[in-house]
Amino acid sequence: MFDASAMTTVDTRAVHAGRDDLTALGVHAPPIDLSTTNPLPSVSAGGDAYEHLATGGTPTPGDSAVYQRLWNPTVARFETALADLEGTPAAVAFASGMAALTAALLAATRDGHRHVVAVRPLYGGTDHVLATGLLGTTVTWARPDEVAAAVRPDTALVVLETPANPTLDLVDIAAVAHAAAGVPLLVDNTVATPVLQQPAQHGATLVLHSATKSIGGHGDVLAGAVACDDDWAARLRQVRAVTGGILHPLGAYLLHRGLQTLPVRVRAQQAAAEKLATWLAHHPAVERVHHPSVHDPDGLVGRQMSGTGSLLGVEVRGGAPAAATVAGACRLITHAVSLGGVDTLIQHPASLTHRPVEDDAKPAGGLLRISVGLEDPDDLRADLAQALARIA
Ligand SMILES: *Cc1c(COP(=O)(O)O)cnc(C)c1O
Repeated sequence: MFDASAMTTVDTRAVHAGRDDLTALGVHAPPIDLSTTNPLPSVSAGGDAYEHLATGGTPTPGDSAVYQRLWNPTVARFETALADLEGTPAAVAFASGMAALTAALLAATRDGHRHVVAVRPLYGGTDHVLATGLLGTTVTWARPDEVAAAVRPDTALVVLETPANPTLDLVDIAAVAHAAAGVPLLVDNTVATPVLQQPAQHGATLVLHSATKSIGGHGDVLAGAVACDDDWAARLRQVRAVTGGILHPLGAYLLHRGLQTLPVRVRAQQAAAEKLATWLAHHPAVERVHHPSVHDPDGLVGRQMSGTGSLLGVEVRGGAPAAATVAGACRLITHAVSLGGVDTLIQHPASLTHRPVEDDAKPAGGLLRISVGLEDPDDLRADLAQALARIA
């Protein structure tokens, strides 16, 4: 059997990960298993398999998978491929990024440990779930250099996102992991993708993805995942089995296919984003551009992140009304939420993705977030030029 994990570059692994057994199966594309239920060999073997899977185990080859909410081979195939790219022993896939975050919070907050230390800014949904305490957690917000002081004996988890959304600030993962002093660290790696950054190599315990974004890449799959070690994976599968957040196998198939082009998409989109960032930084209607190519005070590009990514923040002069005018005036660029896809999207974080965030932590009114796609950068620049001309 061919061992894809022995190959070193992310490009090669992205194409072959999770496909080691296909030749032996006599197929070229991965099979899709849509069964919601599976035949049981006997009452006792079925019961044993159920208990094993419902407590976070995976089936040994030949065992019944019992019921799709417990485990699915197509989902497991995508998990194997993602874990390979993140450099972790395992990954667990969910029906959305927020389902993945929910499972991570539930798996981490046990035995009276319900306190979370979180570094802002975070994705608005993550901020919201922590700020409301809807899952029984309490939160202390901290800057990266305040994490050590914020950690308490009952702290279950430290949470950060880098590049942060929507400011594109980079956070030093290894420094926060050190400050967490043994408390598990969750890093949201949605924006960077494993092509540009593998947080587990810098000390992250749990690596979160909204796979809806760059991994799917085409705006047609809602999904999430957590990459981690085998013990955490078992805890996450147990939560998933009980709460029902598993990814649908058709989604898993599309995400596994999306991984194959992830490195080329990320690099092409990043090159376009860098071009636009440079141009926008000199535009008279623009106050400030947020992108690691123009702002990386701690020198984390090259050390922690191998590139700058395809997500841009653009602060226009004139605040929220001007930003609304620009978002509404784009023609080629779609005014819509989400990021990481093949087509370019623009949105106003303060009104949309970060609407639930408390006022003192809300993004600036003039800030627009642009997720740069695969269009010709000159066409994107022309569209932004005519939109920005409305406020100049
Ligand atoms: C979209 C997003 C999420 C939430 O994922 P869903 O798939 O929408 O549930 C979490 N983190 C980041 C950074 C995101 O962009």
